[in-house]
Amino acid sequence: MKILKIDHLGIAINSIEEGKNFWSDVLGLKFEGAETVEAQKVTTAFFPVGESEVELLESTAPDGPVAKFIEKKGQGIQHVAFRVENIEEALSELKEKGIQLIDKTPRIGAGGAKIAFLHPKATNGVLVELCQRD
Ligand code: ZN
Repeated sequence: MKILKIDHLGIAINSIEEGKNFWSDVLGLKFEGAETVEAQKVTTAFFPVGESEVELLESTAPDGPVAKFIEKKGQGIQHVAFRVENIEEALSELKEKGIQLIDKTPRIGAGGAKIAFLHPKATNGVLVELCQRD
């Protein structure tokens, strides 16, 4: 598997509208607009930071994964996303190594990227996302 870089940090937040000012006005990052991914019950907002990005995640439903995360742990860093060259190859390599996966096959995330999550049980508690952007 070839990891190219940290693609983004996913940060769970109660409200993008209320929380985005810190990232845009205080830190001076460029707010590139929000996008809702209904299948994942989440609205995302990306702020590019050099070669990586900050992704704010706001739940669209009380039973969504981001809402559940905030309920358990509060707002904060929810996942780390690594950009990989070939996500199918990476997933089959991880499967072979016995790593527990949340997504056995890639799905489409924000920005049309192919994404897949590894189970935090397999990573000492860190929710890891793999993503491939073509
Ligand atoms: Zn993400």
